[in-house]
Amino acid sequence: MSLFEHTAFDNHEKVLFATDPATGLKAILAVHSTARGPAVGGCRMWSYPSSAEAVTDVLRLSQGMSYKNIMADLPIGGGKSVIMRPEGDFDRQALFEAFGRALESLNGQYISAEDVGVSPDDMVAARRTTRHVVGLPDGTGDPSPVTAKGVFMGIQAAAARGLGSEDLKGVKIAVQGATGHVGAYLCRHLAEAGAELHLADIRAAELHALAKELGATVVEDPNAIYDVDADIFTPCALGAIINPETIDRLKVKVVAGAANNQLETREMGAELQKRGIFYAPDYVINAGGIINVMGELDARFDAKWVEGKLVTLKATLGEIMDTAAREARPANIVADELARQRLADAAEQKALAAE
Ligand code: NAD
Repeated sequence: MSLFEHTAFDNHEKVLFATDPATGLKAILAVHSTARGPAVGGCRMWSYPSSAEAVTDVLRLSQGMSYKNIMADLPIGGGKSVIMRPEGDFDRQALFEAFGRALESLNGQYISAEDVGVSPDDMVAARRTTRHVVGLPDGTGDPSPVTAKGVFMGIQAAAARGLGSEDLKGVKIAVQGATGHVGAYLCRHLAEAGAELHLADIRAAELHALAKELGATVVEDPNAIYDVDADIFTPCALGAIINPETIDRLKVKVVAGAANNQLETREMGAELQKRGIFYAPDYVINAGGIINVMGELDARFDAKWVEGKLVTLKATLGEIMDTAAREARPANIVADELARQRLADAAEQKALAAE
């Protein structure tokens, strides 16, 4: 497998392959960009079928964090790490202490938090061997309420473009993953704004309880959420849900939600645009959580600062959607270009400052 030529390598500043035979650790720590500050992004633990797949995953995720963090205009860069889950029984605490030692060797160029398969308790174990972790139980806590608030504001911005007004009163919204960490908070904001909610989730009991609480309609078959005759589709569960199988079933004017990697391929952005559907690029609209985590890095990033950042994020999302509409181009491509431009500008400024 080639590494420097990998499509997601994209000039990563540094990639560390770390092993520790005593604990079974096999980890890859990827630092995509530190142009704006230390790279920040989660650690994922997964049973990867091969190390090649782990490399691909970490490079894509790390590059994605750079884009997300710079679009939210945060004083941090982008990075990510993956741990190849050991087979059979293993000592979880020892594994994360070993991960912490690898992290510490990067001297703060990369700061990790939890991601899929990793818990705040795992980060507590890593904290014993490194200072460079956030997302601790006594830290900023669950990021989901702030993610949900940012997504709610983003939906308003998207509705203004796709439906002509950001007032969500009476607007029909189909939410996928309604009872999740982000979904449930988001649904409460949407209900409060007067939206007509159609909710789907695979957790039937929680779904019925939430729908009852909010006076919403239950979409009994989770797979039928794509067919709902709604104004807005709000994915808050899985990635790759905008794909050749689902796209022609959508009847909505707007796709805006929290899920990461909503488009199965970049080309799906153009397909949405061809169908006249306004798309809110996922890594822009869902950056509330990483904004909230900033509070663990510096006390200046308090609740008021977070609130202000969400307002700026909404404006950035609006600008991207306006540019996409004006230039008749897919919003995901416009967002990627803006992210790359901002990263290049930051790298230039860092180089100038170092002279
Ligand atoms: P979660 O696991 O708490 O919620 C996901 C929900 O989706 C669950 O209720 C689950 O039952 C439901 N679900 C799973 N498969 C489904 C299906 N086929 N149809 C309908 N529902 C289904 O996760 P979360 O933390 O709420 O995150 C949701 C999405 O937002 C993820 O894609 C995540 O990567 C992204 N995201 C989350 C945050 C955050 O702060 N939590 C930040 C940025 C992005």
